[in-house]
Amino acid sequence: MEDGFVAHQLSPSSWSRYEDCPRKYWLSRQKLPRKASMPASLGTAVHNSVEDLCNLDINDREPREVGWLPPTAKAILDRHWQIEKEIFLETPRHPRWKDEMITKAHDGLVGALNILFVKSGLDKTSLSEVTIGMWAQVQSIVLANEGTLVSECGRLMGRLDLLVADIDENGKSKGWIVADLKTGRPPTVNLNEKVSRQLRFYRDLLVENNPDHPPLHAEGWYSANQSIHRAEGPSVLEDAFKAWEGMRHSNIPFEGSPNSTVCGFCEWKAWCPTWWAARRDGILPPGNVFRDEVVHIIRFDGNSGATLFERAPPVGDEGEVGRSENKFGAILRDQALSQMRQLVDSGYQGPVFLGSAKADGKIMHLGDWSEVLPWSPINKSLI
Ligand code: SF4
Repeated sequence: MEDGFVAHQLSPSSWSRYEDCPRKYWLSRQKLPRKASMPASLGTAVHNSVEDLCNLDINDREPREVGWLPPTAKAILDRHWQIEKEIFLETPRHPRWKDEMITKAHDGLVGALNILFVKSGLDKTSLSEVTIGMWAQVQSIVLANEGTLVSECGRLMGRLDLLVADIDENGKSKGWIVADLKTGRPPTVNLNEKVSRQLRFYRDLLVENNPDHPPLHAEGWYSANQSIHRAEGPSVLEDAFKAWEGMRHSNIPFEGSPNSTVCGFCEWKAWCPTWWAARRDGILPPGNVFRDEVVHIIRFDGNSGATLFERAPPVGDEGEVGRSENKFGAILRDQALSQMRQLVDSGYQGPVFLGSAKADGKIMHLGDWSEVLPWSPINKSLI
């Protein structure tokens, strides 16, 4: 396929990825096996539960009815939790599903509902005291939820969580609030630059698409401590269009910009030669307790998981690896063990990427938190 003919849209997350490391963005577009994460699934379960509650049909219900919200919220969250669990387990690369985290999801949902009460002009109330009438008031301020925003030219897109009426002390709407619900760690003081930019991106797209809009601003709603942070600042759309230009499809990989924070969380390492060469060149530290490695398998006992590896040092910058004198033992359990068994049983004999091996004395430990994948750096687009 010729350069420039694969359609692409910039979203706040792809923009962020591109900025973190262009290679990471490029790899994320190669249709490689996706990796699920527990925080992302938890966030989606909470978001979708809030959405369902906002859309709940309560027209025929008695306005004074109480006691309905806790069981309804729980049933809705349980359903979404189950849906997310199935999606998670069907995702080709996934760690262990932590059912116990539903408690955190429940707290997140309660936190989000409390923010909605405040925004609707209601006092914070325990969920069991919330009447159908009060919930109708909440629903009346929600103008849209889970909408997709696309710029007129189609280049920019974002998924908006909530658009709510900005209510004054008399209950009258004085404008719009673009709200993004966050289930992660709240900021200590101000929003970080990336989150602020993401919120302003939604704000600016909404402004662009609605020339007759009332006054509007964007807020991050943090369910963990029920704090609300307003995103201020100039439009980000010009920068977004500039980034969009750089994100065009290319058969040749984009340059990587390895650094320990970004590489630490990068899910495409088994396909990226850059970080391994950067380790050799001392640009990236080896890591302390949790390390990534590229190795040859010397011996593997599929029953006990005892394995002897030989470190496979990079040769050049494109992912080729050589031999070394550096051997180390490892104990593989759970997911790491089953991945290694599959690899060996398939007859694979090439180098192997070990993600998040735990260094404990001379022996490495790999388990549910780790990944064992064929080392397959790609230097030309697969799409
Ligand atoms: S491993 Fe590091 S250098 Fe490679 S794509 Fe990921 S972030 Fe970029």
